[in-house]
Amino acid sequence: MNEAAVRSDDGGSAGLEQAGMRVARGAVDTTHGPILYLDGITVSFDGFKALSNLSLTIDDGELRCIIGPNGAGKTTMMDVITGKTRPDAGSAFFGQTIDLTQMTEAEIAHAGIGRKFQKPTVFERHSVFENLELAMKADKRVRKTVSARLGLADMDRIAETLALIQLSAVSDRMAGSLSHGQKQWLEIGMLLMQEPRLLLLDEPVAGMTDDETMRTAELCQSLAGRHSVVVVEHDMDFIASIARKVTVLHEGSVLAEGPMDVVQADPRVIEVYLGR
Ligand code: ADP
Ligand code: MG
Repeated sequence: MNEAAVRSDDGGSAGLEQAGMRVARGAVDTTHGPILYLDGITVSFDGFKALSNLSLTIDDGELRCIIGPNGAGKTTMMDVITGKTRPDAGSAFFGQTIDLTQMTEAEIAHAGIGRKFQKPTVFERHSVFENLELAMKADKRVRKTVSARLGLADMDRIAETLALIQLSAVSDRMAGSLSHGQKQWLEIGMLLMQEPRLLLLDEPVAGMTDDETMRTAELCQSLAGRHSVVVVEHDMDFIASIARKVTVLHEGSVLAEGPMDVVQADPRVIEVYLGR
């Protein structure tokens, strides 16, 4: 069994798992290492290839940064992983066995892939705490076990998430009154309440102050290990501060991949992206 499935901090979920409530989550087979396999993915829009024979694997627990010029296909790649866009060719697997190309967006979310879009979408007229509570209750895997009142384990999970996203001190504030950066963290927290195995973050620091960007870097690093995280960003200082392995997309396929310093020194990467 992998680390994420046996971690001890998720309250009463072991019982739920045994009861079969989290079949899909438990069924992600990462025994060979990777949690995501994209192989030969092509997506065409009216003959234009947004993705062109894209192949990529993400290891379980990895924090992967994806960079590349505008139009490189980064968001389209996330659309394919989450079932929003069907590839014209290629395969996309979650773990060894879950074929993402055969699933609906809802099924993919349920299986354990969470996605954060560029614009935060929190419930503005609810408190920070309530937003996390609502996100937890929206999780179909636990709905049957959640009564109107929160149990102690639920309270603990919310408190833990508040601490992780650095919003404990403002948990009673209306979400609408938060700063842009705080809303982004809250939305990440809402995704975390669903305990995703893989988290996709599309331009999480866009519009953030330097301080917020730095805190987001810390958050991404603390998520890695317990989740697999794929971060798409343009902010190179941010990427450099969190990067382990970096993938550079260009014209819908992988141009370069490796440690940040190697990728940054790659003449092809400098030509199409960094040199601009
Ligand atoms: P990135 O996120 O790397 O900036 P995108 O994945 O958004 O790039 O877009 C890749 C290319 O595909 C762009 O040229 C974009 O215009 C095109 N594209 C994306 N979505 C659609 C769509 N629904 N219809 C037509 N073209 C699209
Ligand atoms: Mg994009």
